[in-house]
Amino acid sequence: MADAMIAKARGLDAADELAPYRERFDLPEGVIYLNGNSLGALPMATPARLEKVMRGEWGDGLIRSWNDADWITLPQRVGGKIAPLIGAQRQEVIVADSVSVNLFKLISAALKMRPGRKVILSEPGNFPTDLYMIQGLEGQGLATQRLAERDAIIDALDEDVALLLLTHVHYKSGAMFDMAALTKAAHETGALILWDLSHTGGALPVDLNGCGADFAVGCGYKYLNGGPGAPAYAFVAERHHDALKQPLTGWMGHAAPFDFTDDYAPAPGVDRLLCGTPSILATAALEVGVDLTAEIGVERLWAKSRALSEFFRECLADADVDLPLVSPEDPMQRGSQLSFRHDYAYALCQALIARGVIGDFRAPEILRLGFAPAYLRFEDMARTAEELADILATGAWDTPQFKQRAAVT
Ligand SMILES: *Cc1c(COP(=O)(O)O)cnc(C)c1O
Repeated sequence: MADAMIAKARGLDAADELAPYRERFDLPEGVIYLNGNSLGALPMATPARLEKVMRGEWGDGLIRSWNDADWITLPQRVGGKIAPLIGAQRQEVIVADSVSVNLFKLISAALKMRPGRKVILSEPGNFPTDLYMIQGLEGQGLATQRLAERDAIIDALDEDVALLLLTHVHYKSGAMFDMAALTKAAHETGALILWDLSHTGGALPVDLNGCGADFAVGCGYKYLNGGPGAPAYAFVAERHHDALKQPLTGWMGHAAPFDFTDDYAPAPGVDRLLCGTPSILATAALEVGVDLTAEIGVERLWAKSRALSEFFRECLADADVDLPLVSPEDPMQRGSQLSFRHDYAYALCQALIARGVIGDFRAPEILRLGFAPAYLRFEDMARTAEELADILATGAWDTPQFKQRAAVT
């Protein structure tokens, strides 16, 4: 009974120690937001922080703020705050550019560190940009792409592989790789490993250094709530700092940018991953999201996300909704999302949005629901299940309006 599930949800919300954090986000009335894995919600504190950076630091401080307001060290400072969320040391993480650009820098750096090897191994169906960036280097004659299905990756590692590039939590299915096992397997064949943590960072804890990972990149606008187009982050294990050579040798990654010399010399450590001048407004907004995530804690976030998704499945079962689950059954094997298969997943998603439940569609047939635990309630799970059950039972998704695929989604 839907009413019984709503009552149960309210009990769970009353006992939820993360419930008060919902107030720290500016969420629109009447919307259930299940897309925080694509664009995180706006933290309440972000507008005031941006106002301060714009009016005080930029407007009044002008160029003096590079030093007076510590703009010049902002990428390192925010990177240092992301580090403990992903099992890294502060000096191993920096905020810069987009995930795509950081992939280019780190794939290139890995190829330099493994002379004689050209293969970059990944999986088919990885997030497109990860594969596209390999292909771009392939077009330059610098790399060879090799793809192997998840369960065949270890067998596909050999003496030609310079780098294994994997996304830890799959963007479509939510399936999670065993970071320790794959890192070890890559190293056993002499390959390096680069983890894309875009659907991991801020959602669940990982231990990059505990696993011996070499490199990682991750997204600032998903679970870290940094805002649309927030800069990304990159991790380089300290043991590689001296050897690291990346090709985007811009002046901000120079050892002494303000000496204005003609010859490039890399800055120490991850600082050399900087290329041009960082966006201070965007990085300041990201810092607010990162601070909030760190305050709540990734362990608690992941525990709640598992509880939310398991409760959601209980609500679906209670309502006799039988959508095939594409994500792993075991909550320890998936990230903070559930993906379901339906022939008209796009129409289903549109019908949900029309009822104020914002989920996501991933072509060709996946309904993807993200459970960003910092601001979702158990009651949201019960209500979503109720709406989904009604949409399926009444065929409310089956209208020309919903079935029409928009050109841009
Ligand atoms: C969202 C996402 C990205 C984003 O890349 P950008 O270049 O920052 O737009 C990269 N990889 C994965 C796995 C993602 O989910």
